[in-house]
Amino acid sequence: MTDVLTLGEAMGCLRGEGRVQLGGTMALGVAGAESNVAIGLSRLGHSSSWVGVVGPDQIGELVVRTLRAEGVDVSSIRRGDEPTGIVVFENRVAGVARVDYHRRGSAGSTVSGDDVAVAFAQGSPRIVHLTGVTLALSETAADAVRTAARLARECGAVVSLDVNHRSRLWSADTARTALSSVIDLVDVVIASEDELGLVAPSGTIAEQAGQLLAAGARAVVVKQGSDGATSYTADGVVRSPARRVRAVDVIGAGDAFVAGYLSGLLDGLPEPDRLQRANTVGAFAVASRGDWEGLPTREELALLDVTPGEVVR
Ligand code: ADP
Repeated sequence: MTDVLTLGEAMGCLRGEGRVQLGGTMALGVAGAESNVAIGLSRLGHSSSWVGVVGPDQIGELVVRTLRAEGVDVSSIRRGDEPTGIVVFENRVAGVARVDYHRRGSAGSTVSGDDVAVAFAQGSPRIVHLTGVTLALSETAADAVRTAARLARECGAVVSLDVNHRSRLWSADTARTALSSVIDLVDVVIASEDELGLVAPSGTIAEQAGQLLAAGARAVVVKQGSDGATSYTADGVVRSPARRVRAVDVIGAGDAFVAGYLSGLLDGLPEPDRLQRANTVGAFAVASRGDWEGLPTREELALLDVTPGEVVR
């Protein structure tokens, strides 16, 4: 039995210093919202399993090797016939990243409800983590998300959903319709302020959170970038400030935040401590380059409390 099962698309990612159209050297790594969460949880000492499809190519091997090296259970990864997707990040001007996807028709987009059922047959996870990204990839991928939510409910697992809207993949209206097919099965809703409207009728942030709680969610967690986060539960509202770090690369902050929050949930921490762990892990992502490379181990969580300039021996 794994602590957290998640599913989605992991891709090769290319990152350079200058403008992509001028050529030059780029570094190759692995990116994917859900695989980032799986790695973050594994680093914090939890067991995590990632369900997805990679292509019969070297980037696919890179994805599998990377996840395995990070301690993520890769036994539910399927090798498909299509190529593994690629994402290209360009640091266009300082602090503003531009993203080009090469993922339409990719192996990752063929993930299906059958892949999810095979993974569940290995045992019941404690948490199933879903994202709006996977819902957007294809009909089979959307079915994989719905199947995961249904099977999670059947085995008593907590269902978490990061709305994670990608306007390059689909319109807000299409996203709203697809999200409505799973939102009633979600226990923990995680979203940015501007994403809440995709899963709740209009109103203030607090009103939207209240609507989601009334519809059955146990927690609505709102990510607020450098302002930290706010969570709404039946017990009330908890606000937690962001950790103060120098922002180097904000991509992956939301996934890191999710890993921290789910880690706190698995540890049975009270809501304020969950949020604080989420903000701490999010800050590690922001303070280091790469989506997941800088994520902390459990021992490293306390590093942000060290006075800058001090040497940790
Ligand atoms: P997303 O990456 O999904 O858009 P946010 O930008 O809201 O999400 O960031 C997620 C979390 O990462 C925040 O709630 C916060 O904990 C942390 N974070 C983001 N930006 C900063 C920052 N500049 N300084 C410290 N922490 C940050």
